[in-house]
Amino acid sequence: MVAEIIINSNAKDLNKQFDYFVPAELENQIKIGNRVFVPFGKNGVKEGYVVCLKEKSTFATKNILRIEDNFLSDFNINLAKLMARRYFCNVSDCIKLMLPPGSSSKNISSRAKAKMADFVYLNKNKNEINSEIENGTIKNPKQIRVLNVLFQNDEIYILDLERLADSTRATVKGLEKKGYIEIRQKAIERNPLINKEVKRDTALKFTDEQQKVYDSISKDIENNVHSQNLIYGITGSGKTEIYLQLIDACLKQGKTAIMLVPEISLTPQMINRFLARFGDVVAVLHSKLMLGERYDQWQKISEGKSKILIGARSAIFAPIKDLGIIIIDEEHDSSYKSESTPRYSAKDLAKYICAQNNIPLVLGSATPDVKTFYDAKSGKINLFTLTKRANESSLPKATIVDLRKELAIGNKSMISGLLKSKIEENIKNKKQTILFLNRRGYSSFIMCRECGFTAKCKNCNISLTYHIGENKLKCHYCGFETKPLKTCPVCKSEKIKYFGIGTEKLENEIKSMFPEVATIRMDIDTVTKKNSHEEILEKFKKDNIDILIGTQMVVKGHHFPNVTLVGIIAADSSLGIEDYRASERTFQILTQVAGRAGREETAGEVIIQTYNPDNFSIECAKEQNYDMFYDAEIMLRKTLKYPPFCDILLFNIIGNNEVEVKKLAEKFYRILTRNSLEKMLLLKPLPSPISKIKNKYRWRILAKCKFSNSVIDIINKSLKECYANSNNKSSIIVDVNPNNMI
Ligand code: ADP
Ligand code: ZN
Ligand code: ZN
Repeated sequence: MVAEIIINSNAKDLNKQFDYFVPAELENQIKIGNRVFVPFGKNGVKEGYVVCLKEKSTFATKNILRIEDNFLSDFNINLAKLMARRYFCNVSDCIKLMLPPGSSSKNISSRAKAKMADFVYLNKNKNEINSEIENGTIKNPKQIRVLNVLFQNDEIYILDLERLADSTRATVKGLEKKGYIEIRQKAIERNPLINKEVKRDTALKFTDEQQKVYDSISKDIENNVHSQNLIYGITGSGKTEIYLQLIDACLKQGKTAIMLVPEISLTPQMINRFLARFGDVVAVLHSKLMLGERYDQWQKISEGKSKILIGARSAIFAPIKDLGIIIIDEEHDSSYKSESTPRYSAKDLAKYICAQNNIPLVLGSATPDVKTFYDAKSGKINLFTLTKRANESSLPKATIVDLRKELAIGNKSMISGLLKSKIEENIKNKKQTILFLNRRGYSSFIMCRECGFTAKCKNCNISLTYHIGENKLKCHYCGFETKPLKTCPVCKSEKIKYFGIGTEKLENEIKSMFPEVATIRMDIDTVTKKNSHEEILEKFKKDNIDILIGTQMVVKGHHFPNVTLVGIIAADSSLGIEDYRASERTFQILTQVAGRAGREETAGEVIIQTYNPDNFSIECAKEQNYDMFYDAEIMLRKTLKYPPFCDILLFNIIGNNEVEVKKLAEKFYRILTRNSLEKMLLLKPLPSPISKIKNKYRWRILAKCKFSNSVIDIINKSLKECYANSNNKSSIIVDVNPNNMI
């Protein structure tokens, strides 16, 4: 027998199958998906995966050495192959996502394993021991205490036993030696949901709107029908309640469910709603869990003990069986697309998995992705609209402030007159305020006013940001830090000026404006530890801190009943970027931030400060009107031939040597032009907007086309041709409809 093996490597020339003989003693054992070790090259041994088994081969020369483990199914292998073709990477890059957390580590001893612990059991009959205590055979009081604890517990963790019996390891070991008790190793579960005592709740009675959605999708679950569904409804319109009851329908039919949420929305509140409804059949997977915790959650899913998986993007690869539904909440969120190899879209893969399993896919959002909404309007996706807030709370009132006018009347601060008076009023009424600014740090760039020199990162071609708290200049791309400048390194002038604004500067300004007021700041710089994001929000809520200042992070998760004012300091900051999705992003984020104000009885207020009061995404966000935004945006996309009317392909050519990068870019452009047969509109290679990041030079080629099967073939063929017989060490990274165009 012969096995086709994919070598575990991201080297471009190893992305193919190699044939190996299966030795007779492994023939009964070997299966597709096995992780194996094989001899490779001169005296080398490499790890690989079995992707196919066949009778014979003319290429095989060597035997498989051994089988390491067996985590992958046929389905996994097929999915990995499909992904490698579609996302232009190695099959083994994709397989890694499907292995238990930590198991792709190069070093076997550091791979995640089940955690073993000593458990203690009685080894003799209770009556027998009791009579030995009575007749004085056992008289050590410590030993008696240990035995008494064991009378109450069939099985107990050794540390718990020692603590409960107030005894020592020596005492326990002594009893083991005499044969009264037994100590055995057992795997223990590290459970991130443990210590959570959540009061159970029950299903709510649906509104008519909710009922309609539920009826349609639950029918598809029951009949094993694949369907794509968009639940479009503002925050608070009852989407989550529908998800909960659809999942319940799955459980009742012996099926399971995956629900994806943006990493940042995986808050305890969110998870608690699922625990309250379903208890311990819920598993969670996200990157903030420790490796061991993730491993154990994965194991529980694989063993079928967990029926509901809530997780971030990569949870789509968990080994859940009998799947009945996949739900993607906040489907417009950019975190569903991976920004590292493989650059997959969890939404596209979910669609594929649902189709393969004949189950419904549910997407939910208050501000759907323009492409999703286009598909919904054109009938490819079932559209369900929730028009009312389920708990009848009202939408906030929004006002736009023109910052150009502020400047004209001499207000140079970041806070307009109107926002200042609203904050004052809020403080007086003991209500809370959130101030949102999309930029962290103190100043966004530093320039010499004599000669125009700007301080840039030495690894990246990008300006450094000043952080006043640490008194440092930092690069937000690579983390490089340096001391702030006193004199210009070029002309020695002392006229160094700090330009721009950031969250840190905003906090300082607020403190000098309102010295009595308590503030808390939330951005990457204050959020570092495991739960810190959570801690900051908890503190803001619990301690009733007057003002929360933050970036994007403040947008999601928590619900703050006492927040009645939201100030958006500079609505324009995401507009200027070179990206076809800039307006969409601006609209989404402004709508979400605005939605933070007043979800209870009191209607909240939103102040949007901007230099572009006439911009349509800002205007639509003020109105909280997605339909109005969509109608304008889709026209624009159609005119400019942007997605969904066309796809944008970004080829990033990256390497250590600038000349080689340029050469490879030009070579690839030539090959692609020849192969594309005018199916793609190609733009000439140019240095990327940020031409160097982390000491790697970057060029790019942009293309517009319909991303079809034939285009995928053209790109794969061109990549192969470009890499063949080349000693150029730069690489080409292909990104389809990238989140980030730089
Ligand atoms: P979304 O997910 O769209 O933000 P939720 O499902 O969280 O909305 O619902 C918002 C609030 O309304 C929650 O407090 C929820 O318990 C409540 N709610 C949802 N559906 C109903 C219903 N049918 N009847 C009463 N309250 C509901
Ligand atoms: Zn200078
Ligand atoms: Zn840098």
